[in-house]
Amino acid sequence: MSFSLHGIAISDGYAIGRAQLYSHDRLEAPHYLLRAADLDEEVQRYEAALTTVRQECSHLRDHLPEGTPPELAAFLDLHGLFLDDSMLAEVPKRLIREQSCNAEWALAQQTESLLAQFESIEDEYLRERRHDVKQVADRVLKALLGHPGHAPLKPVEDEPTILVAHDLSPSDMVLFKRHAYAGFITDLGGATSHSAILARSLNISSVMALHNARALIQEGDTLIVDGVAGVVVVNPDEAILDEYRLRQHQWRLEQQKLRRLKSSPSSTLDGVSIELLANIDLPPDVQEALDENAAGIGLFRSEFLFLNRADQPSEDEQFEAYRHVVKVMKGRPVVIRTLDAGADKSLAWLPVKSDNPALGLRAIRLCLAEPQVFTTQLRAILRASHYGTTKILLPMLASLTELDQALALIDAAKAELKAEKIKFDPTTAIGGMIEIPAAALAAEWFARKLDFLSLGTNDLIQYTLAIDRTDDAVAHLYDPLNPGVIQLIAHTLKVGKRLHRPVSVCGEMAGDARLTRLLLGLGLRSFSMHPAHILSVKQQILRSQTDALEPMATKLLRLGDPEKIQALLAKINA
Ligand code: PEP
Ligand code: MG
Repeated sequence: MSFSLHGIAISDGYAIGRAQLYSHDRLEAPHYLLRAADLDEEVQRYEAALTTVRQECSHLRDHLPEGTPPELAAFLDLHGLFLDDSMLAEVPKRLIREQSCNAEWALAQQTESLLAQFESIEDEYLRERRHDVKQVADRVLKALLGHPGHAPLKPVEDEPTILVAHDLSPSDMVLFKRHAYAGFITDLGGATSHSAILARSLNISSVMALHNARALIQEGDTLIVDGVAGVVVVNPDEAILDEYRLRQHQWRLEQQKLRRLKSSPSSTLDGVSIELLANIDLPPDVQEALDENAAGIGLFRSEFLFLNRADQPSEDEQFEAYRHVVKVMKGRPVVIRTLDAGADKSLAWLPVKSDNPALGLRAIRLCLAEPQVFTTQLRAILRASHYGTTKILLPMLASLTELDQALALIDAAKAELKAEKIKFDPTTAIGGMIEIPAAALAAEWFARKLDFLSLGTNDLIQYTLAIDRTDDAVAHLYDPLNPGVIQLIAHTLKVGKRLHRPVSVCGEMAGDARLTRLLLGLGLRSFSMHPAHILSVKQQILRSQTDALEPMATKLLRLGDPEKIQALLAKINA
């Protein structure tokens, strides 16, 4: 029977192949009572199971295959932390003694109670960690039941294989990484789950949050994974298969065709040179930026170095990470955004409580509230500036008072380094992100105090339209073409031009090829995006004539009606 399932599109592209079911979460915990004399032994049995799992995790941690995404080691560390936490290390032992029950039953009860507690956490990122708790608890249960570790995964030879799992743990992903799966799909996993983060870095077509895929799909079923639309088609008929084979073929052709543009200079038909920069999250992503021939790093989201860990990264650790990127880019500019934590990127070691986190203590506000954290980072970035062109970018500025405070802390960090005779580039450029409407409207005053501006359109749209970026219920209202948004972008670009301050766009708009020509017409000359989008944006640039686009973009600024805006955009893109 043919049917389709809808989930969240995690990683682009199309995969067609046979289903391979991955099963490890249907373990039954037996329940029996013990005599008082046997309780010590039962507690020891539980401790032995914990030791086995600790060894398994540290073995995996020490034998990560080459090229494994760096986040994986951090996830395994997190699992190690859970194993050592009293919630798993102590409470089940207490339950064994209190209830005279077997270890499996004690663990099952405690797991259930922990999952309920995590389920009720409001913060999405922390709530997602319930999957990690479940994965660790399953491993301990397996050890108690005497099951061996996970059987190694292996795709069926000579045939594209799609992995179907209820959930995938980071340690599953180590095995997954070694084999060439065509795609994978899971029942669980929100957009910020560990598996989703890893899936993107593996670059395999995938769809998550399908709810019942594992139960409904049978081993060997034919599957289509549409990573563009977030759809999985199970046992499609020949007509649908043909349609998707065609889409897959076209998609691959497009990708190959785009590769030919890699070495073309990025300039328009009328000879205007356009800077194409890459956004990266972690130091190893820099390779992808080089592969796409990015002119530099336009946004290094440094907060990813601070997530998934129990403590703040030290100055030296941060310095090594920044220096690595700066050195690999060999003189091409690297814009390091200072810690943009808070809201959906919460830090375990610096929790922030807020009823409305997008409007709460995040980004520069959090850094100014925690000057020691901020100064440590500033010192690390400045030290890296000695090794190549480094720029500092301050996120989410709303007022000049914040900017002045941040600049004072940068000066203080420089003075410290100088006094300590530590080398840094004293001319390191300082830029500010324009992502709050007030900052866009007051761009002139920010530009006067800064070396460059960068439009964070993801947040600029969120705050201009009052739409929570993370809320599914209002996602359809998220509109980069809203006249209010376009006016703010145009105003900022105009100010930058007048005051001779470079302005780039580093939000998702920069990587959306449908908006490239409009942004060129509005005067944008520097785009920063995920490396995967660089070539499709370049393709648009190569066929553009800025002097022809400018009058059309100016005309669009005078429109308010969404239909007319869409019609003019179509003309701009024609
Ligand atoms: C933005 O808001 O557009 C941006 C680039 O920053 P982030 O997506 O990390 O908030
Ligand atoms: Mg932002």
